[in-house]
Amino acid sequence: MKQKNTWVSWNENIKHNYTSLYKITSEEKLSEVIAKNDKIRFFGNKQSSADIAAGTDALIDMTSYNKIVSYDYNKKTVTVQSGLILGDFLEAIEAVGWCIPCLPDINTITIGGALATGTHGTSGKLLSEYMIECTLVLADGSIKTITEEDDLMDAVRVSLGMLGVMSTITFKCEKSYTLHVKERPEKDSEWLPKIKSRLKEHDFLRILWLPHTDKGYVITGDKIKPDTKIVENNGPKYLKHRRNASKILYKYSHIYPWITSIANKILAKAFFSSKKEHKGTLYQATVTKSRGSTLELAEWTIALDKFPQVFDELKTEINKWSNKSFIHIPMDVRFVKKDTSWLSYAYKQDIVTMGCVSRNAATADTYEAFKSVEKIFLKHGGRPHWGKRFSAKDVELSRVYPKWEAFKELRSNLDPTNKFLNPYLTKLVNAKAKKVINEIA
Ligand SMILES: Cc1cc2nc3c(=O)[nH]c(=O)nc-3n(C[C@H](O)[C@H](O)[C@H](O)COP(=O)(O)OP(=O)(O)OC[C@H]3O[C@@H](n4cnc5c(N)ncnc54)[C@H](O)[C@@H]3O)c2cc1C
Repeated sequence: MKQKNTWVSWNENIKHNYTSLYKITSEEKLSEVIAKNDKIRFFGNKQSSADIAAGTDALIDMTSYNKIVSYDYNKKTVTVQSGLILGDFLEAIEAVGWCIPCLPDINTITIGGALATGTHGTSGKLLSEYMIECTLVLADGSIKTITEEDDLMDAVRVSLGMLGVMSTITFKCEKSYTLHVKERPEKDSEWLPKIKSRLKEHDFLRILWLPHTDKGYVITGDKIKPDTKIVENNGPKYLKHRRNASKILYKYSHIYPWITSIANKILAKAFFSSKKEHKGTLYQATVTKSRGSTLELAEWTIALDKFPQVFDELKTEINKWSNKSFIHIPMDVRFVKKDTSWLSYAYKQDIVTMGCVSRNAATADTYEAFKSVEKIFLKHGGRPHWGKRFSAKDVELSRVYPKWEAFKELRSNLDPTNKFLNPYLTKLVNAKAKKVINEIA
């Protein structure tokens, strides 16, 4: 009998036994491994909070499949293997003077993991919208090249690794630019009505909302010439201790959730009350490069026009003392432009995304905030981030994703034996074991 090993996610909230682990370094090997296994999942840097990366006996570790394949300097395109770490990719393209103009606030994830879950930044499109071509290894091990001209591209861009494994990816890049970033605290009554005008005025907009304080921390960015002089102000030196201070203040918030309300007021005063100003490339100036500790994340998205109403409702709900939904700082508010990808949060609508963090990953199951946020966003037609925590399944998802049924049909045609489904994904798409049913029939 084969020995069982344990797969553990980044924040240790998901654990699965497995018997075979393949570390692949070539497309041929990827295709061979997929063809010979009946059930298989594949993972990048294991940083998703949703149970989407493992849960099958055979697993593929994509992180050694991480080379830059080629550059086309005339077209500003670059082709990479999907296990490449995002930070390595961004540094490589910056070195040739290019950028991807919308980046998530994390650089340790793999390209494949980022694309599969619809990873996004702010004031632009999902990362997957900058992909113009990819090769996809299908359930039978065959390799399909998909370009922007193919109808399939809209289905594949965000597909949680349910249609196949993305092998090589070609991105269309833009010329790198310098961003002048300004940060300051603002009352909710100030920043909320200014969202639309600021989206027009600035190249970058992000708001770190500070629940239970009536304040947000507004970050704007404007493109400038690299040699433009600015008065740099990085705020007091102690700001770098914010995450550790949060960890300490929230330590017992799972036992006494109301502590959060007091902790947030202290954190807002200490770490979000000073103005800051700096410049750099989008990657250098806005993406967090290191995190002291793990956390558990949820994130919901809503049409831009509906956001003020959802925000008000959420604020009222979490400020009720009868409610245990106290929320750790910050709730990250970002903006994504509409696209046509079937499972994109921004499918045919400009959206606002709102993060919800539990700084105690181990006690996330008791964090009421995840439930309250989900209830309110779902009620208004909000869509959950695929890589983060949510409990909605097939029925709810079919109401908020217009292309959900089309995606499910395509998935079952491309993977008729459900090779790529783990238990979580099986429930998500409400998949029936087609082959077995046919055999019985
Ligand atoms: C601290 C932190 C900050 C974050 N910040 C952001 C953010 O700013 N914006 C945002 O949108 N998200 C953010 N996320 C979510 C994160 O981007 C996603 O969870 C992402 O999927 C993690 O990438 P990974 O390499 O760890 O993938 P994994 O978690 O290992 O895998 C994720 C999914 O991708 C699939 N997959 C992996 N490789 C491939 C491939 N080659 N082809 C097809 N499918 C594949 C896996 O099977 C799995 O279903 C953040 C997460 C953390 C922990």
